[in-house]
Amino acid sequence: MDCLFCKIINKEIPSNIVYETDDVLAFYDIAPQAPVHIVIIPKQHISSPADITEENCNISGKMFLAASEIAKKLNLENGFRIVSNCGEDGGQTVQHLHFHLLAKRSLAWPPG
Ligand code: 5GP
Ligand code: ZN
Repeated sequence: MDCLFCKIINKEIPSNIVYETDDVLAFYDIAPQAPVHIVIIPKQHISSPADITEENCNISGKMFLAASEIAKKLNLENGFRIVSNCGEDGGQTVQHLHFHLLAKRSLAWPPG
């Protein structure tokens, strides 16, 4: 499959991995929008949040678990933000479900 994040999962494209289990991979974003910017993805290819179903929804809990574990590992005690862009209006550029974990700066709200 011609999917960038599937290639990162298969190690066909190198990445700086911070967390890996049988189900989830997390790595540093190539174009960081905060001092800490990590991408958390399921190893199973799901195209976007809009493709979450009754059958595959357990993976989202594992993605949140990854965020919590990474926050402990990287000492993000001051807080962080999780973002999941979906579709054109959501600004999604890679069509494989992912969370952005952003930290180590004060983040504006609403995001704009
Ligand atoms: P989206 O725009 O779909 O919400 O997020 C995709 C993210 O993937 C972007 O923040 C972008 O910087 C990141 N990204 C795109 N290509 C690569 C890559 O080859 N390696 C890494 N580590 N991140 C990438
Ligand atoms: Zn994929």
